[in-house]
Amino acid sequence: MFDLHSHSTNSDGQHSVSEVAQMMSDSKVRYWSLTDHDTILGWESARQAADNQGLVFIPGVELTCAPGLPANAKVLEHQGLERASDSWHLLAYFPNIEFQSQQHKQFKTWLAPLGEGRIPRMRTMVEKLSELGMPVDLNAVLARAGDSVGRPHLADEMMQLGYVETRHEAFEKWIGDGKPAHITRPKPSIVDACKAVHAAGGITSIAHPLYYCVDSESLIAYCLESGVDAIECFHRSHSDKYRFELWSAARDAGLSVTCGSDFHGKMYNQTPGRMAVPAATLPIQFKN
Ligand SMILES: [Zn+2]
Ligand SMILES: [Zn+2]
Repeated sequence: MFDLHSHSTNSDGQHSVSEVAQMMSDSKVRYWSLTDHDTILGWESARQAADNQGLVFIPGVELTCAPGLPANAKVLEHQGLERASDSWHLLAYFPNIEFQSQQHKQFKTWLAPLGEGRIPRMRTMVEKLSELGMPVDLNAVLARAGDSVGRPHLADEMMQLGYVETRHEAFEKWIGDGKPAHITRPKPSIVDACKAVHAAGGITSIAHPLYYCVDSESLIAYCLESGVDAIECFHRSHSDKYRFELWSAARDAGLSVTCGSDFHGKMYNQTPGRMAVPAATLPIQFKN
């Protein structure tokens, strides 16, 4: 019934907000959050779409933050990885926010410079690609995006121009983190992001902790210390064993847990919803 993590074309999802709402409803989801990366542009249309589908909509966003803890060597080795993800994602939920209220506006202002969809950053990436011998028309990239332009739109344009075969190749060779045409954007610390979310009456949950390669005990201690309200124990990428381990540890520490499919689209063979979650350990706001 709960899917508190999903993406639309406002960030790197495949489907429009109304299509995502439709698919949530088809999957028998009742409580739905749209959590596009670093943008809340989809909120208005998502609320409308949720009303049309009879869903309870929770305005959300997935914030790209600086890592909270360094990766643990043992966990990296166990997962067969050389390094962990270079950012931590923090889910933020605003179940009670009033649109266009002072809190909403303040949060939007805080978020604005962090958005993946910032045109100045895209312009610089396009310039870099051109220096690397791959001229791209910025307007063509913008035309592919809805309200918020991001790297997937650039990757699609690079495919169209024949510079790469796939999105994956575009990221791996040119525009992924640390690659030649990549421009880093400012990343808030988890602590600062929590403060901004709390100031707007929201709550936070660490997204897909598996990717950060830290042990559960350190992760939970970190959350308690940094003001993080919950952990996304129930993420699609987590094995049953890891879910259980993390959920038990979070429960014992008095931390809430959240549940999300991280739905990006059918072309990734994903389905929304259909994940079991112990409702009693969800953050209180979702229980009604
Ligand atoms: Zn994420
Ligand atoms: Zn996500």
